Amino acid sequence: MEEGQLSRSNLESSDQENAIHMLLVPYPLQGHITPFIKLAYLISGRGIMVTLVITEFAHARMMAAEPELDNERYKVRYITVPDGLSEDDARNDEGKLAQSISKVMPGHLREVLEKVNMEGNRVTCVIADPMFGWALEIAETMKVKLAMFWPSAPGILALILNIPKLIEDGIIDTKGSSKIDGKVQLSPDLPPLTSTDFLWNFSGNQSAEAMFQYFLGIQQNMKRSGWLLCNWFHDLNPLVGNLVPHMFPVGPLLANGKPAANLWPEDSTCLSWLNKQPDRSVIYVAFGSISVFSQHQMDELALGLELVGRPFLWVKRSDLIIGGSSKYPNGYEERVANQGKIVQWAPQEKVLAHPSIACFLTHCGWNSTMDGLRMGVPFLCWPYFADQFYNRSCICNGYKVGLSLSPDEYGIITRHEIRRKLDSLVADYGIRANALKLKEMAEQSINEGGSSVRNLDNFILQMKQ
Ligand code: UDP
Repeated sequence: MEEGQLSRSNLESSDQENAIHMLLVPYPLQGHITPFIKLAYLISGRGIMVTLVITEFAHARMMAAEPELDNERYKVRYITVPDGLSEDDARNDEGKLAQSISKVMPGHLREVLEKVNMEGNRVTCVIADPMFGWALEIAETMKVKLAMFWPSAPGILALILNIPKLIEDGIIDTKGSSKIDGKVQLSPDLPPLTSTDFLWNFSGNQSAEAMFQYFLGIQQNMKRSGWLLCNWFHDLNPLVGNLVPHMFPVGPLLANGKPAANLWPEDSTCLSWLNKQPDRSVIYVAFGSISVFSQHQMDELALGLELVGRPFLWVKRSDLIIGGSSKYPNGYEERVANQGKIVQWAPQEKVLAHPSIACFLTHCGWNSTMDGLRMGVPFLCWPYFADQFYNRSCICNGYKVGLSLSPDEYGIITRHEIRRKLDSLVADYGIRANALKLKEMAEQSINEGGSSVRNLDNFILQMKQ
């Protein structure tokens, strides 16, 4: 069996299974699209018909980045719908995109369901992003089963599901403001949360109260949806499962060499570059799809990597710098030409699985966290916003597989801090041993008879009933 591939279980493909048709509806951001496509592969790998509904704009970018994406050998069909914005509108204004999508998507989903049903491939189950809570009503009126896929961490799920209890216990008020100074323990196997971990405080251009109401809505929808799939494995946080009876951890989700539905083209030259590096020597540096840096902060990062003196592979998106184009420090590219490789977007799953990787300097997005856990790589944490701060606590204090960078008094992570922590991380055998232990656990969960395989079996059986 291909390494990391979810094994087939006793649930073999049959005519009855072919009669199931699942419609997956991710929110059109990279951190949502990627786990949904991996979930789509997992399900279609069981002989089940899978269709992914995605906005035209995101689909066009995905196809430009990976023209192979909709090849029928991957067994995932795509249906595209407009996002309600004009061609010239900037999709990186997240508030505007979210508003437009919430207006137009419910109508599109209804139409898609009607059309697909008329064609004879009747949809039996919709798996929706929790950001699309309105899908519940549509599924109910159209008599389709509705599952949700949670794209973030177990602790964040616990936080959202516990909102009513946090209010009841006087920890937050009905507007989401913290009423206590201390920490909150939501599950014995999760690090405690502080009020800075409360997601609704990262509100962008919305008020924290509006964001709190939004998360309250998500909580209610997730409670009502019959099934909740998620990207982790049971043994990672076994007690979190007690929070919801209908939770199905099916991770770690993997593309296993199939197109990962990237919005940027992968630069595979980094793989041949990695082939030339010694085992466990390379620092992999990537901050997901949304994080941005000031020019000053980027200079410190660049100089910090140089200072460490180890080989590095740095994913530096063209939009990584606030305000657009970025410059390297004077003479930098020439100086690091033999030390580092800089790309716009990497095949992250393959990179992290490469034997030359020593550690992962990450923004702690949940997908990246699962990528790193699956591959047994120690983390150096540099969270940017939202759930990433709490994910850092899980990585460093819960799973004990990483260290965290600390900003100086001006809020800057200096080159010296980067060097100090990277040196400590690569020399920390305890962290490395923990990372390898978790890797093994992750692998067991997706191998024959593993918990994630059984959960997927169980979910599919329930979809058939
Ligand atoms: N990713 C990738 N190549 C890169 C950087 C990121 O394939 O160079 C993928 C990564 O595997 C993950 C996703 O992009 O699946 C980023 O999601 P995450 O939750 O880590 O962060 P976000 O982008 O949502 O902040």
